[in-house]
Amino acid sequence: MRGGVSIVTDLPRSDNRLLRLNVGFLLKEGPGYSREFDFDQDGTFIVEDVVISRLRGVLRLTRTRQGIVIQGTLRTQIATECVRCLIPIALPCDIELSELFVYPATPAASPAPNPYFVDDGGFIDLQPIIREEGILAVPIQTLCSPDCKGLCSQCGQNFNEGTCDCAEEDIEPRLASLRALLEED
Ligand SMILES: [Zn+2]
Ligand SMILES: [Zn+2]
Repeated sequence: MRGGVSIVTDLPRSDNRLLRLNVGFLLKEGPGYSREFDFDQDGTFIVEDVVISRLRGVLRLTRTRQGIVIQGTLRTQIATECVRCLIPIALPCDIELSELFVYPATPAASPAPNPYFVDDGGFIDLQPIIREEGILAVPIQTLCSPDCKGLCSQCGQNFNEGTCDCAEEDIEPRLASLRALLEED
């Protein structure tokens, strides 16, 4: 989280076709053959509920008997919001991938069907795994800055931008309920 956090102002259109890799050429080679894919994309990718922008890094794709193994780290930014002031932010994150994408004809090796696969056309769709790993990469408590002042609980004023008149009367809800308990006696 330290630094590098930027404020999201608008969302350009999603360019998800860049997340589909044509691995047909790998399928023509023998097991053990591998090749690197360079990612250097400035676009925005909207995968269901996850919005990521900028994708940089190198993925190594290796052909095995069961499928294609993808390994590497993608540096990206994931849209989230500050838990205190609720402002949208683009959080720099590393998405680490290390996954087998099985061939269509491979019988499931594990009891649960593998969600990651090479499709009949020889493509691998990275969207499901990027969504999954992207969600894991975002911490639960994200702040726009370590000293974010948050919002006024009464009028919603963003204290990072200014003050409001109700600040003096502001009683934390937890303190209010505690006082109510004490006053019961
Ligand atoms: Zn904030
Ligand atoms: Zn206020």
